[in-house]
Amino acid sequence: MHLADSANPNRTHHQPRAPKEAMSALPYQNPKNTIDERVADLLARLTVEEKAGQLTQYFYTGDGEPIPEDFDIESLPPEHRIHVELPALIESAIRAGRAGSLLFLRDPALSNKLQRYAVEESRLGIPLLFGFDVVHGWRTIFPVPIALAATWSEGTVEAVQTIAAREARAAGVHWTFAPMIDIARDPRWGRIIEGAGEDPVLGSVMAAAQVRGFQGELGSESLLAGPKHFLGYGAARGGRDYDDAEVSDHELWNVYLPPFRAAVEAGAATVMSAYMDLNGVPASASRTLLTTVLREQLGFDGFVVSDANAVRSLAVQHFAEDQTDAAVRALEAGLDMEMCMFEPAFDNLPDAVADGRIDESVLDDAVRRVLTAKFRLGLFENPYANESATASTLSSPASRTLARTAAEQSIVLLKNVDATLPLDPRTLPNVAVIGQLADSKREILGPWVFDHDTNETVTILEGLRDALGDARIGYEPGAGIPERVHPSMFDVMDTTVERTPDDYDDDAAIERAVELATASDVTIVVVGQRQNQIGEKSSTSTLDLPGRQFEQLQRLHATGTKLIVVVVSGRPLDLRWADEHVPAIVQAWYPGTRGGEALAAVLLGATSPAGRLPFTWPQHVGQVPLVYAHHRTFIPEEQDARYFEGSNAPLYPFGHGLSYTSFEYSDLRIDRPVIARGESTTVSVDVTNVGDRDADEVVQLYIHQRFGVSSRPVRELKDFARISLAAGQARRVEFTLTPQQLRYWSAATNGYVQDATTFDLGIGGDSLVALESSFTVTR
Ligand code: BGC
Repeated sequence: MHLADSANPNRTHHQPRAPKEAMSALPYQNPKNTIDERVADLLARLTVEEKAGQLTQYFYTGDGEPIPEDFDIESLPPEHRIHVELPALIESAIRAGRAGSLLFLRDPALSNKLQRYAVEESRLGIPLLFGFDVVHGWRTIFPVPIALAATWSEGTVEAVQTIAAREARAAGVHWTFAPMIDIARDPRWGRIIEGAGEDPVLGSVMAAAQVRGFQGELGSESLLAGPKHFLGYGAARGGRDYDDAEVSDHELWNVYLPPFRAAVEAGAATVMSAYMDLNGVPASASRTLLTTVLREQLGFDGFVVSDANAVRSLAVQHFAEDQTDAAVRALEAGLDMEMCMFEPAFDNLPDAVADGRIDESVLDDAVRRVLTAKFRLGLFENPYANESATASTLSSPASRTLARTAAEQSIVLLKNVDATLPLDPRTLPNVAVIGQLADSKREILGPWVFDHDTNETVTILEGLRDALGDARIGYEPGAGIPERVHPSMFDVMDTTVERTPDDYDDDAAIERAVELATASDVTIVVVGQRQNQIGEKSSTSTLDLPGRQFEQLQRLHATGTKLIVVVVSGRPLDLRWADEHVPAIVQAWYPGTRGGEALAAVLLGATSPAGRLPFTWPQHVGQVPLVYAHHRTFIPEEQDARYFEGSNAPLYPFGHGLSYTSFEYSDLRIDRPVIARGESTTVSVDVTNVGDRDADEVVQLYIHQRFGVSSRPVRELKDFARISLAAGQARRVEFTLTPQQLRYWSAATNGYVQDATTFDLGIGGDSLVALESSFTVTR
């Protein structure tokens, strides 16, 4: 049965609608009962069709209005017609109790309208759950997640997602499909921008911080969090989005799983399954993943939603025989809710129950989890968004200030010779700002932002003009950024997408840029990728600067004017030439609503940068994948010479990021240099700001296990702290290493082990720190 049938207004229900007065006495409606009691009562009242409905989530892209009578729908090809008809079909499904959740609504008035269909017109009045990808902000757009990870500040990241949740909830959203916590070790994969990069420890801290931020105490300003995509999505073969992933158990449990463990421990209410085949089994129908690992091993007690259309895709991926088989196998694997466009595979569940292909108790388990989430969020008591309060919540100045702070903290100073930066605003004469990305409000917001009102967005150019005054700044857009060959699927949802016009005269634009640079004292060139060249379905086979930006860079350098490169990207790009020739390079990411101000503050020295790379920055695409936590293996002294024609060392190491001040590390102490297995030890160090500026430092602790049941990576981040130190100030920073942090999953034993062994250890400002101390774990 598909949606068209289920939404048939002539369809009769198994149970008639109870009169309202009687309803108010029902146990599930009484907030004094426990959630378990309410869920049990409600579950017992549901028909099998209504159960399947609670497990179904639709994309709703309508406007809540009926199709105009004079609209000639017959003239449309069938594949287009369905999109016009769909909103009305979904509305009927809601009234019939055949839809549990909707996604992609952004207007609280429309959400409330549809919610009334569910609450007032459906038989049992079960509220809908409204979901959206609230990834890095709603009204206030914060830096993209990879940039948030570059802050290495869990406090900032939690605060950011607290605001994102408050704003989205005020606009009628209950649930975010975030954080994306897939480890990404291949920058060709576009979704690297949505996560925290390559490292499981940094990834875990960021995962938990975001879950805490979104959910808080699950009150009226909270969103349910939806960590995704379980599991191994970041390992898509060749970095190609959606391609299958082959991941060894060793890498799966030691690298890809930890952020999910952290998210579950932080209380994540939902988890999203992944699209791709993992080791030959689609992740969305893997009982090992969704039940054995997620529920039994990690203790997850929320509900699992599929990625969009992933259940239907089980048949497309030649795993399921047909849509009934897809529904049955996904549900039996432990997937609770199907996210889909239309014709849900889960519409086949009532027939599958009737035919004995699946036990109704499997549906009951899933429905129980979904209803529990709705009760936990208080939806039965407060199903509607408070439209009169939306505007004031969305206009909070404190949120915009946080956007600026987060952006400042995320900016990474990649290179800075001869103290080229900061520029001194008092003595700065003429500044040339070059690059299309410098003058764009849309681009610096990054992906997962649609039709945004960019009124308050501060471009890079505006940020510099505000700080320096118009008179000293000249601007040229310079080289164009060519369009994608395969269009982005998001562009159709966003009328503000920017493009270089087809007839753009690159030659003339580059000449004008060079002329301006020649006549200026400093050139700031902003290079990078457009926001639609990164993200979902935005994988790439090259890390080159798109178009003629590289040629332009060389021309600007040849003018002899002091040159500063600002990179707008969500992945490492090939900066070999720039690193060799240009004195200062700044990674700005897609910094969000207040990005221009933040960048100006860093370039002009109001803030000392302290962002750190959450991934290893390769020299070029041929080195990919390149991670700092590789194994030592054979002939380690030739580690950087594995390619006969050149180096395989990174351009910038994991954890790298420069400062305008200098820090000294001294007096590293391990309180117990010998511990038994199962015991902890504490490590501490003095960190001193020996420069003349107040600044933040990211103190990073790395270890290496010398021998054991398995061999272990040459170094592994185990803990970190972002601290603020005034000029001249010193602080003792302490970390405790627990048995949990010293264990790992070994393919030699097929399980977790903690070895009796010796660990080398070092604390410093990036992953190149010398491992100069050690401690021993005895049996
Ligand atoms: C993405 C998910 C996202 C969903 C809904 C899918 O294509 O993979 O990450 O949450 O769409 O927008």
